[in-house]
Amino acid sequence: LPVTHLEALRAQFPILGSSAYGKPLVYLDNAATTQKPHSVIQAIEHYYLHTNSNVHRGAHYLGDLATAALEGAREKVAAFLNASREEIIWTRGTTEGINLVAHSFGGSYLKAGDEVLISSLEHHANIVPWQQVCRRAGATLRVLPLADDASLDTSRLDEFITERTRIVAVVHVSNALGVINPIDEIIRRARAVGAAVLIDAAQSVAHFPVDVQQLDCDFLVFSGHKLFGPTGIGVLYGRQTLLDAMPPYQTGGEMIETVSFETSTWNQLPYKFEAGTPHIAGAVGLGAALDWLTTQDRNALLAHENDLRDYVTERARAFPGLRIIGDTPSKVATLSFLLDGTHPNDVGTLLDQQGVAVRTGHHCTMPLMNLLGVPGTIRASFAPYNSRDDIDRLFAALEKAARFL
Ligand code: PMP
Repeated sequence: LPVTHLEALRAQFPILGSSAYGKPLVYLDNAATTQKPHSVIQAIEHYYLHTNSNVHRGAHYLGDLATAALEGAREKVAAFLNASREEIIWTRGTTEGINLVAHSFGGSYLKAGDEVLISSLEHHANIVPWQQVCRRAGATLRVLPLADDASLDTSRLDEFITERTRIVAVVHVSNALGVINPIDEIIRRARAVGAAVLIDAAQSVAHFPVDVQQLDCDFLVFSGHKLFGPTGIGVLYGRQTLLDAMPPYQTGGEMIETVSFETSTWNQLPYKFEAGTPHIAGAVGLGAALDWLTTQDRNALLAHENDLRDYVTERARAFPGLRIIGDTPSKVATLSFLLDGTHPNDVGTLLDQQGVAVRTGHHCTMPLMNLLGVPGTIRASFAPYNSRDDIDRLFAALEKAARFL
């Protein structure tokens, strides 16, 4: 991005102007959560100042405003993913979306002897719910292995996607390494054997456009807070025919059509999967985040992020004793690395003291860290508001840390 563009972009994110320990903040923990533009913060404030009410009751003026705000945000998500509004379910985030699908779809569909396939790159959120449902159903959880460069070994797909495979649940972009997975190929192979596919898009939607029709996946989940929106709100996309056939996940108010003391019937989609009062302000904030993102020049943002990725990789390769973990050709702007003779946590602490925010540890991917034979990594993850200057500050801070350790 031209410098003036980048400055204008950064100015929209008030927190980027803060300091840490008296030093200007360099925020490189965007894979954990992104910062929020003014417009998102203002939309949430506006909601509580002028709209707040409960929804879907047709009770009064404010109730109608709040309902319109919630459903308007749903329309924005539907357009963002190229889905219809009935297929967009509000969740608390990626974790809840996967649990919903594992319980409702997996729980009613998996039988003894069936297989669920995940990959070696999964976040715990896309491992544990499948372990649990497989255990209950007597199904087997299988794991697509890594190739030598820590990308997925697609040469072995035939072995892992067979007529026993019922569900394939795979992460689009690895949060720990930044590797972009070949999900087109995986989805094609899964559909050829009639398996349902869930995509964990937590780390992809903020970086490049994701179209569920083009992908031809059955389920796709993400979290608002990794997409410049608030915490506590997320999205499950589900193919309508599957959502229609699935039993509810949580039950109670809002998700019912009729209730007697003996039995109940379910509301239509999407409400069937939305028990209780939804996170209305969160949905409004996420809608504002999508407005913000979709009015940017996304090609320019992507080109900028790719420039950051290439620059940080070049600096990393030249840094003495630095080992990149997951040095694959297909990546977003995330650098996971180790420094010879140091522990990731010690490096992270020394970077933090210099105002550089990175994440260290296993990144909720303990099985992946075990496969790679590392205790964890240091991860610098970038967003469009980051700059080459941030990368220079990272490496200046790393030089100091390396001298100290
Ligand atoms: N999957 C991936 C790939 C992630 O990066 C994350 C968040 N680190 C999650 C799932 C879980 O997201 P959340 O905590 O927002 O539910």
